[in-house]
Amino acid sequence: MLLLIDQDNVLADFTRVIYTEMCARGHRERVLAPAKQTTYPLEDHYPADLLGELRAIYTAEGFFRSLPPIDGAIQAVKEMVAHGIDVRICTHPLQAYRNCVGEKYEWVERHLGAAFTTRMILTRDKTVIAGDMLIDDNPNITGSRDPSWLHVVFDQPYNRAVAGPRLKGWADWRAVIEPMYAGGRRGIGSTREVVGAGF
Ligand SMILES: [Mg+2]
Repeated sequence: MLLLIDQDNVLADFTRVIYTEMCARGHRERVLAPAKQTTYPLEDHYPADLLGELRAIYTAEGFFRSLPPIDGAIQAVKEMVAHGIDVRICTHPLQAYRNCVGEKYEWVERHLGAAFTTRMILTRDKTVIAGDMLIDDNPNITGSRDPSWLHVVFDQPYNRAVAGPRLKGWADWRAVIEPMYAGGRRGIGSTREVVGAGF
């Protein structure tokens, strides 16, 4: 099974760090706590005059590199790989890519090891990437193709209205993912080299 996993707000806790930083800058009264952010995208929850500051936070050097992992994410990913699942991290980089792209790789290296960076796929259109499932918090993934993957929603307050399979937290990954691949999707445990060698 080829399993695509999104990075921000699935593996790395993006929203919480933004909120904490906004509070540190004196905006606590004007921004909603993550649990109360019930629509998507994130920008919806910030007054217009704070959008420049919001952008400054997430484009700053060091932001992506220092995001804390979501609870249980790192252990779950390691368990999946040990279980024979071909895990790839499929993430949408900012158009303002200069800090974001390199630091997304640094984050994966720091938490999952240097070899894991070869499992990264950066794309602005996830529908063109093939896979059996995509675990993603985005409630409305659009692109230029009909996706080959099944969207498994990673639970966040802003995606609760989406129907279909849902992962409420990483501790549940076996209960949610195993029945789906046992139910006729492509088998796991391929003996093929999962990621090519080389540069
Ligand atoms: Mg995300």
